[in-house]
Amino acid sequence: MKELVLPLPDEAATVALGAALAKACDRASVIYLYGDLGAGKTTFSRGFLQSLGHQGNVKSPTYTLVEPYALEPLAVYHFDLYRLVDPEELEFMGIRDYFAQDAICLVEWPQQGTGVLPDPDLELHLSYQDQGREAKIQAVSAYGSQLLDRIHGPQG
Ligand code: ADP
Ligand code: MG
Repeated sequence: MKELVLPLPDEAATVALGAALAKACDRASVIYLYGDLGAGKTTFSRGFLQSLGHQGNVKSPTYTLVEPYALEPLAVYHFDLYRLVDPEELEFMGIRDYFAQDAICLVEWPQQGTGVLPDPDLELHLSYQDQGREAKIQAVSAYGSQLLDRIHGPQG
């Protein structure tokens, strides 16, 4: 499957990548966000959410697992599964209902929900690179591949 590697020299670049992907998403989609603590998953999510009109802070919903954002054209659910003990917890919170909606799901620490989370359209892997970060974006679905094509232009 298609993959794109982008240097993210500073925080603004991570925010801009989030904004670019948000603009590309025109239907329900699932994006997995991988990377160590501090790699920029929440920063990416903030860029994504703010570009769709969310004003104010974006915090990782570490304790509540999910934060809903009622945005246009699509609602966004921001998950952080870092503290998830058992993927079964996701069943109890009605995870399937979230993913069945016409919404965009951003998922930090998706590896914690293995076996319960639906497959993503895109995987974003963030890693430390000197003072900045590097993004590797992998298309997992056909729609994810379209999304990659759409952001490839503006991002170079
Ligand atoms: P995570 O959610 O992956 O734990 P956060 O986004 O909360 O990470 O924190 C990342 C930290 O790194 C923030 O302080 C942010 O300002 C900074 N940061 C984000 N992207 C970059 C980048 N491309 N280069 C340098 N610093 C970055
Ligand atoms: Mg985070």
